[in-house]
Amino acid sequence: MFPPVRLCALFAAPALLLASMLPEASRAQSDPSPPAKEFRVFDPTIIDASIDPCDNFYQFSCQGWLKNNPLPAEKSNYGRVTELEELNRLHLKQILEEVSAPNSARTPNEQKIGDEYATCMNTAAIEAQGLAPLKPEFDRIAALKNKNDLPLLLAHLHSIGVNAFFSMGSAPDYVDAAAVISSYGSGGLGLPERAYYTRTDEKSIEQRQQYVAHVKTVFHLAGETPKQATKDAEIVLRMETLLAEGSLDAIELRDPQKLNHPSDIAAIGKQLTNFRLATYVAATGVPPSVRVNVAEPRFLAAFNAAIAENSAEQIRAYLRWRLLDAFAGTSMPHSFDEENWNFNSHILNGAEKQEDRWKRCTSHIDNELGEALGQVYVARYFSASDKQRTLEMALAIEAAMEKDIDALDWMSPATKVRAKEKLHAVMNKVGYPDRWRDYSALQIVRDDAIGNQSRANVFEYQRGLAKVGKPVDKGEWSMTPPTVNAYYDGQQNNVNFPAGYLQPPFFNGKEDDAANYGNMGSTIGHELTHGFDDEGRQFDATGNLKDWWTKDDELKFSERSNCVVKEYDAIESVPDVHLSGKLTLGENLADLGGLWLSWLAWLDKASAVHLNMAAKTDGYTPDQRFWIAYAQQWCTQERPEELRTLAQTDPHSPSEHRTNAVLQNLPEFTKSFSCKPSSKMISANRCRVW
Ligand SMILES: [Zn+2]
Repeated sequence: MFPPVRLCALFAAPALLLASMLPEASRAQSDPSPPAKEFRVFDPTIIDASIDPCDNFYQFSCQGWLKNNPLPAEKSNYGRVTELEELNRLHLKQILEEVSAPNSARTPNEQKIGDEYATCMNTAAIEAQGLAPLKPEFDRIAALKNKNDLPLLLAHLHSIGVNAFFSMGSAPDYVDAAAVISSYGSGGLGLPERAYYTRTDEKSIEQRQQYVAHVKTVFHLAGETPKQATKDAEIVLRMETLLAEGSLDAIELRDPQKLNHPSDIAAIGKQLTNFRLATYVAATGVPPSVRVNVAEPRFLAAFNAAIAENSAEQIRAYLRWRLLDAFAGTSMPHSFDEENWNFNSHILNGAEKQEDRWKRCTSHIDNELGEALGQVYVARYFSASDKQRTLEMALAIEAAMEKDIDALDWMSPATKVRAKEKLHAVMNKVGYPDRWRDYSALQIVRDDAIGNQSRANVFEYQRGLAKVGKPVDKGEWSMTPPTVNAYYDGQQNNVNFPAGYLQPPFFNGKEDDAANYGNMGSTIGHELTHGFDDEGRQFDATGNLKDWWTKDDELKFSERSNCVVKEYDAIESVPDVHLSGKLTLGENLADLGGLWLSWLAWLDKASAVHLNMAAKTDGYTPDQRFWIAYAQQWCTQERPEELRTLAQTDPHSPSEHRTNAVLQNLPEFTKSFSCKPSSKMISANRCRVW
């Protein structure tokens, strides 16, 4: 819904994304969960020693796991990340079940998360209500007779979470990151990305036909005659194609310079000749801000043209679709929910079965009320000592980066000073927010699924808009505490590691530094390196989009990163679909730099404690276990359908390449395993930036 936010997550954040380090004894007392499978960060039992580590290190490290973990029918991918997500969801379910029985002793937050979970699980009530709760919204759309009335209608639809035409929300100012302004971006598409509407290969044409069939089915389920549904589905594809043609593609969206167009409402309003922007702005209630950013000016022009080219009747058909699509999922009757799954999960990503209801409901509450649920989760599953050890790792990796910058032979002393300024300003956020979100303004009514979803969206929308004109709150989180992921925020210059991720098999207070630095340390390094990747390096220490590089250093950086672009361009992800070196550049630089920094930090620690580097544990030396722990975080089964979708949309490379392609660039890795110069795990043309 909102304009692109400059966040660099560790993984693509599937909508449903999202063990404890307590000693087992105290865990048994405080945790009502069934004994969890013991996850290990370095796990010798999943190595396949019959595979030569110098031939394919990913398979060497993961084959045992891959053999024992076939892809479940309901998943389009399944990895060690999923194992932890599933465990976390089980923990969240226990919390939600405890608070879902009506009880006057519940706290206001417990009432909200408990009642919303009970609502989501009550499929009989959802079925009985059908589409009736959406009737007022359909009536509003039906009342649009004159295109001049669109601004008022659209302001309302945006507030309840309908992604139609364009997006508007709050965002830090690119040139003054301390200030929040309002920002206009592209939006209004039902397919994953611009190119899905414009590509002319056979597969893409087929997917568009399948999309039109999906839209038609949903219209028909909503009560339209087959003839009308067919006609309306064609209108939707035409409208969305017009909008897509005006949108930036996934590669362009990674370039902040292409997204920074300061303007003001009057100037934008003059360009929108077919849409009264002032009426829209007044209806949203967004506080007036002098500066407004237009992330994609070409898109607003396309939107303006689309309004002129389409009749009120056609606009109504498009809006009905956007409304139905916005609420598709657990709040809707089974037939809609299933059709939504069929297109988005099965056709686009290859899943064969829908996930269990409780899992989807748990994720739904995490999405709507993540900090209310997360507060309970953190109290049970994240200890102060976990937080402390993570912080110590982050500081050690920052110290390694400082040394690394000093040692760079391609960067001038002047740019090094600025790079270190930025490094010293990075803020580490670990586990959960210092100040929890206040949900008191949000009303959750038992057995009103669509109403709750709508109110939760309004709450989030207004919370976002209320920030306009105020200073940025750097204490806020963009991921919920139980999430299995991490991110760097370029405009706040901070790294964020949710508690849900600081768990085995990614981090374990009971395992040694070789394991934890190889795995979680590489992630800490990854997020830190995002501040210095092709995108992040354009922001300064305070998060302003401001060039701090000398021309010569910039050129040398580009030469080095082009090496990485070429390396990944050459990788064929599925037959006939190559990775895009440019789309994945930032993540690949972060993977490579992050692992290198964590290696340096770990070596320093190992030498400070005089670690015996020849002593074997489980058959491997400490340095070998460092690299294996790195690789084992990526063990993942993936469907070819999803690999195809991700190669076209995801700035992250697939797991096998996040392992092998990264390690192929590091001589230190090949030395640990005494690989021969002709080994496949040695890149012919090694790349190195950081
Ligand atoms: Zn990343």
